[in-house]
Amino acid sequence: MGTYRVAQVCLNGHVPTSSADRHPELRETFCSHCGDATTMNCIKCNTPIRGDYDVEGVFSIGDHYRPPAFCHNCGNAFPWTERKISSAVELIEAAGTLSGEEIQQFKADLTELTKDSPKTLVASVRFKKVMGKVGNSIVSGVREIIVDVLSDTAKKAVWGS
Ligand SMILES: [Zn+2]
Ligand SMILES: [Zn+2]
Repeated sequence: MGTYRVAQVCLNGHVPTSSADRHPELRETFCSHCGDATTMNCIKCNTPIRGDYDVEGVFSIGDHYRPPAFCHNCGNAFPWTERKISSAVELIEAAGTLSGEEIQQFKADLTELTKDSPKTLVASVRFKKVMGKVGNSIVSGVREIIVDVLSDTAKKAVWGS
């Protein structure tokens, strides 16, 4: 049986440390990447954010830690998840090729793509259609923004990896 360390994450999803309880010296009150406030708890229910998963006697070296998209206790989307979704939507708006209705649908689909649900695959089909309607620079911008919050299922469906 292992235990979760507590992660400290900024509102934009940067991670000063994924074991803030074990390494308080690595904590940052404000993020050194973007200057935004950091948190170690869910804003809605105050549950500590899950960080590294420690198994006694096992060293996990170089495991890439990704902050969770949703709180495991209350299901609330974390601020970085919401911010990434809305930044990607803004980028699509900036492309100027989609109608308001299509943009609303895109936002709903992106939210599904952060989850592992039966709707994820449906959303990925529509997502790919939207990507076909915008330029390459927008596509790579969107990818860069959301790659860390997409579920593994969504990543496979959208990018095949
Ligand atoms: Zn930051
Ligand atoms: Zn919560």
